[in-house]
Parts: sequence; structure tokens; C-alpha cells
Amino acid sequence: MRKHNFGAGPGILPESALHKTREAIIDFNGIGMGVMEISHRSKEFEAVLDRTKSLVKELLKVPDTHEVLFLQGGASQQFAMIPMNFLKTKAAYLDQGAWSSKAIKEAKNIGEVVVLASSKDKNYCYQPKGYSIPQDVDYLHICSNETIHGTQVKIFPSSPVPVICDMSSDIFSRPVDVSKFDVIYAGAQKNMGPSGVTLVIIRKDKAGTHGKKLPAIFDYKTHLDNNSLYNTPPVVSILVCMYTLEWLKEQGGVEGIEKINKQKADWFYGEVDSNPMFYGTADKEDRSPMNACFLLSDSSQDEEFLHATKKANIVGIKGHRSVGGFRASMYNALPFESVKMLVEVMKEFAKVKS
Ligand SMILES: *Cc1c(COP(=O)(O)O)cnc(C)c1O
Repeated sequence: MRKHNFGAGPGILPESALHKTREAIIDFNGIGMGVMEISHRSKEFEAVLDRTKSLVKELLKVPDTHEVLFLQGGASQQFAMIPMNFLKTKAAYLDQGAWSSKAIKEAKNIGEVVVLASSKDKNYCYQPKGYSIPQDVDYLHICSNETIHGTQVKIFPSSPVPVICDMSSDIFSRPVDVSKFDVIYAGAQKNMGPSGVTLVIIRKDKAGTHGKKLPAIFDYKTHLDNNSLYNTPPVVSILVCMYTLEWLKEQGGVEGIEKINKQKADWFYGEVDSNPMFYGTADKEDRSPMNACFLLSDSSQDEEFLHATKKANIVGIKGHRSVGGFRASMYNALPFESVKMLVEVMKEFAKVKS
């Protein structure tokens, strides 16, 4: 029996994608070889790459000005590649949580960084707002969903400078206007597929405009010119993304899944807010539907609650050490039934304890 998997990442994948992958590992499309054993330049893999790319474009309505790349090194490598490719004089960053602060740290290794706003004063329990964006920066970097603290940007800033966004933990969870961003990137392992591949959506005319001598592998232009085949791509990871996106399309795409995600989040936060044993750590208006951080009012009961969830086949809800307590990650592939089960355990816990 499959667990109710609330893990923050790598996260749960659709069962259909796992079944298809199992087949493909032994015999891919009946060719007598597994997908791990074929050339990345074979027509079989070429079809996978094309299909995955066109699914990304279709689901996110990527305009012709932009191209889809599949890179490696995770979102963490993007923290470095972004300033390598785009930081000329200085760049603006928002300090919204653990991930954006890592991005800031990397950018500072490359050049001058201005931090426009920070929510560190309250352990990142809210999204900074009301900041002004200077005109004289090369770009503004933001993180759409801070996975560790459970906060999400609801309205993207209208910016006089190009916006670059880390969407690792909420990509494909809601519609997004891609044309508003010069670069969107996401490690696949939260909401799109397995680890090993990083999605990059980049404005084509911005790739290669750095005017520097960069190692080819860290230059977006290299990957753009080589259709993500400059080096051997993570063939299996891309295939699992393809199966996951096919599943997503069957759910009604990002518009369809957004409704389901909202139902899951409403159900869960509804319980957090009405059950006196629990409270949420993030400001209500900034709460993430993907990652819900919550604490027990009496933290001495943490172990007991964890035990109760385990008995109900629930895994992955222990909070990140920097926030403590619990975190329920409710990525696209997490069924509504899993959220229901967790809510039932919370209700039961309150009943027994009162
Ligand atoms: C997980 C995560 C990262 C780091 O991703 P890697 O692929 O492990 O480098 C970066 N940003 C956000 C928002 C994340 O959730």
C-alpha cells in the first residue's frame, strides 16, 4: 500500500508515471532496450525530449519568445548560473526565506547585490511587500514559493527590470504569465518529476548577452544552441517528467490542478485554524498551498502526534529544523484522500487529548 506522502522533496509522483517508468526501464516502447540504455541522440529519446518540451510549453502557455531547457545541477546550480549570465553591474534580490537567501549568497560571489526587502526579522513567516524596485539593476530575483517556511508570492511584482524566478516548489501548481519573466527555473523533484533535471524557461534573446568568457557548460546560450543536448541529459529524469506532465494534462492542466490544490489547502488550513491543538506558522495571506507549516500548541506532544500520523501511514510531515514542528507538503500528485487522512488524525488527536 502506498503511503500518504507529504514529503517536501523529492516529492510524491503520480502513480501512473511510476508504472510507465517501470515499464520503460525494462523495455522502452517495445524496442528491446530500457530507456537507460539508449543514446540520448536516438530518435526514441529525441521524441521524449520534444514531447516533454512541448508539454511544458502547452501547460504553461510559454510564448515563442521563450525556450525550454532541461539542465542539471538542480536549482542550486541556477543560483550560480543566473548571476554568471546576467549580473553585470548589480542585481536586486528579495530575501524571502532559506532558498532565496542561498541565491543571494551565490550572487554575492559574482557581483554586487542589493537586497530590496527581507522577512528574516520574523523567521520568514511572511512575504516581503511594498518594496520599490530600482531601475539601475540588471534584474530582480524572486522565489515564488519558499518551501521551508511555507509562504508563497500571490501577486508577482510589476517590475521595471527583468524578473528571474525560482519556482522549484510551485511550478505547474497554478497558471503563470511566463512572458513576465526573463528566466523561470525549477528543480524538478518537488512538483514536476524526479531529481536530476532542472527546468529552465528562458527568454531566447537574453541568452548569451553576458559579454563575458564563461565556461560553456554554465552559459545558457550553449544549452539553447544545443537543444539541451550539449552534454548527456538525464534521460530517465526527463522521461519521468514527461509522464508526470501527461498526467497533469489529464487533470485539466495547471488550471485544473490549481482548483484541486486549493481544495486540498483549504481543507488542511481549515483544520489548522479551527483545531485548538494546532496553529500555522505563516501569515494567512501568504500561506503556501504547496507547503503548510504548522505547530502543536503544546510542543511536548510532538512525538505523540508524529506517532499517530505514522500509524495512519502518513510520512514526510516532520518540519524543517529551522522552523520546527510539522510541514505538510501538498504537491500536485498528493491525492485529496491523503489530506483528508491527515485532517482526520488531527481531529482524533484533539479529541483524545481534550
Ligand atoms: C528545493 C529547492 C531548491 C533547491 O533545489 P536543488 O534542486 O536541490 O538544488 C531551491 N529553491 C527552492 C524554492 C526549493 O524548494
